[in-house]
Amino acid sequence: MLKTPQRPTSLAVLTSGGDAAGMNPAVRAVVRAGIDAGLEVYTVSEGLQGLVDGGDAIRKAGSEDVGGILHQGGTVLGTARSDDFRTREGRLKAARNLIEHGITALIVIGGDGSLTGANIFREEWRGLLDELVERGEIEKTRAASNRRFTLVGMVGSIDNDMFGTDMTIGADTALHRITEALDAIHSTASSHQRAFVVEVMGRNCGYLALMSALAAGANWVLIPESPPDTDEWEESMCRALTASRAVGRRLNLVIVAEGAQDLHGNPITADHVKQVLEEQLGADTRVTSLGHVQRGGAPSAFDRYLSTVLGYAAVEQVVTSPGGEAQLVGIKEHQIISSPLMECVEETRAVADRIAEQDYETAMEMRGGSFRDSFRLMRTMVRAHPHAPDPGQRQLRLGILHAGAPAPGMNTAVRVAVRETIDDGHTMLAVSAGFRGLEVGRIREMDWMSVNGWASRGGAELGTSRHLPRGRHFDMIADQIEAHRLDGLLMVGGWAGYRACYDLHRAAQENPRLRIPMVCMPASINNDLPGSELSIGADTALNNIVGDVDKIKQSAVASGRCFVVEVMGRDCGYLALMSGLATGAERVYLPEEGITLDDLRDDIKDLRLGFDRGKRLGLVISSEYADPVYTATFIKELFEREGEGLFSVRASILGHIQQGGDPSPFDRIQATRLASKSVDYLIEQALAEEYTSAFIGLEQGKVRFTPLHEFEELIEEGARRPQDQSWMALLPLARVMAKPGAPAL
Ligand code: ADP
Repeated sequence: MLKTPQRPTSLAVLTSGGDAAGMNPAVRAVVRAGIDAGLEVYTVSEGLQGLVDGGDAIRKAGSEDVGGILHQGGTVLGTARSDDFRTREGRLKAARNLIEHGITALIVIGGDGSLTGANIFREEWRGLLDELVERGEIEKTRAASNRRFTLVGMVGSIDNDMFGTDMTIGADTALHRITEALDAIHSTASSHQRAFVVEVMGRNCGYLALMSALAAGANWVLIPESPPDTDEWEESMCRALTASRAVGRRLNLVIVAEGAQDLHGNPITADHVKQVLEEQLGADTRVTSLGHVQRGGAPSAFDRYLSTVLGYAAVEQVVTSPGGEAQLVGIKEHQIISSPLMECVEETRAVADRIAEQDYETAMEMRGGSFRDSFRLMRTMVRAHPHAPDPGQRQLRLGILHAGAPAPGMNTAVRVAVRETIDDGHTMLAVSAGFRGLEVGRIREMDWMSVNGWASRGGAELGTSRHLPRGRHFDMIADQIEAHRLDGLLMVGGWAGYRACYDLHRAAQENPRLRIPMVCMPASINNDLPGSELSIGADTALNNIVGDVDKIKQSAVASGRCFVVEVMGRDCGYLALMSGLATGAERVYLPEEGITLDDLRDDIKDLRLGFDRGKRLGLVISSEYADPVYTATFIKELFEREGEGLFSVRASILGHIQQGGDPSPFDRIQATRLASKSVDYLIEQALAEEYTSAFIGLEQGKVRFTPLHEFEELIEEGARRPQDQSWMALLPLARVMAKPGAPAL
């Protein structure tokens, strides 16, 4: 009979290799989830070297030891490259140090090098124990009871180059840093008509370069996986940049990935590109190497979320599958998964090998569909002119409009939709000010350059409104559809837009003049739309909230203060829960759950207990519609009254700050992806004999279309939110990470 493997009683966590933002939240998550699972948790400083050194480098951690690190970039545990760990002698010392503490499980947050090293250690474990027994350094019985070793890895790397996870911890933050820098360069470059060449990190992986180029609206990008396809690439690049200037683009921005190379494998450097631009274009050219700026700074909201859920999953892996093959926990299609660690490392290395062998086709194939789509889109976006339409092709006239509140990323979406439509040989007409504008004919044709510079711009250039067409408005819309010969409509917006499109769809059953295909693309910071697990703008809002709450927390110099922060979201608690997770809030109030008097009583009790035990800072996040009576201001008054002088309370209502600002890189990338797919779908429907109007969305990370007529079935009765909200599954995890009254956030 197979014996069930005993679960370990102690685990150690370390960060190793290149540092990455998000390593701290990952360590925090492992420590807290480990303690919650009843394990003793140790932190190891200075990476794998700390295992070799032992002593003070390996310390038992309590929940409070990982308080206050969630917002810190880098790694508080330190990281190092360790030559000692590469030797068996070094690993023997590491084994002895672990055995000393009874540790038989290790969670490593690092790159492929660190994970490989750790796996070698895991494979040698029994041999190392035998040798330690032979040398008389540990007792035989001790070795016998600790023969099973569990290794779980998480990828901490800004490069986003690992198999087994769609995103590595730190990549999103690096994209934030790069995009901020490129936006800044954008303004100075446009002012002087200078050319800028920016080198972006990423080793063998072009992810950071490609995505930042797409997000910032760069003119050219050079990545390792897909070198320029001719030997005369310098000439093609210069021709493209000249054409670009000729049509009025003032920006000349070339992004060069660290590992960029030509068709023959010769490296392409930023300096070489500069020289080419100077010699062939006579352009005043500057090189900016962002260097370690890309690694630094506070982790983005997404990296805090990702590392927290992965840390939690890594502990679960240790508890449920002790021993056995080393596993890597990662995120795939929005799901947390675990895969054999060494298979992931080998596949990762295989891409680098393909690039080294100049087998670029396979390398691109291995990078996956959305990477390839992004590259194709980049090539369309950088064109100075669209492709000429095919003679004989039917030229459609599509309309685009917004409705609902403005969401960051709306302009990015319009830019891509306009260019994709024109490049496919059709016409795009923009409607100003939402459905009101459609009724009264505020409609104009967009040309290629009309959306220049919109990739990074916040707000909504076309204007938006919450107006819902009623009664005679439908006839007015039908008149405009006829007058402008509209063949399809793309609505990029929020709840009001979804409602209006659904009403239009229903009105069309009576009124054939309204029968045109429509696509609704989710753009709302609230993330409250059916047919998509994420809407454009929510990531920017989340980063705005997280940045503000970080500042609010820092302002709490006075000890004994609790903040009640109210965030937006209307009937959807997404922003509240996710910002709670990313800022370490100890209590989150959601409209999905409501607030009861008993909840408030319990929370006051927990807060009092916490502050009584020396806690210095409290944080509660409340969604704006969590309860009609127990508002943030009410909760503040109540807590203060009941805090009995143990703590003071401040309410902070973040308001429209959440909706503002330039879109985050993630929102720009998703807006680009969804807008391009929406246009493809709309064209397909407009050309078909029978059409289906739909919402586009992301389901398990994949683009999906849901028929518009399902709207009523998908939404919660009496509330503005979808019935199915997958993020609600994160509630238990949020509770483990920060319990009310816990000593530190
Ligand atoms: P990353 O984890 O970011 O890829 P490195 O490749 O520098 O970073 O690896 C970090 C550390 O992992 C190395 O300094 C070394 O201690 C350990 N390591 C890497 N490869 C091996 C190996 N083949 N055997 C033992 N240890 C290794």
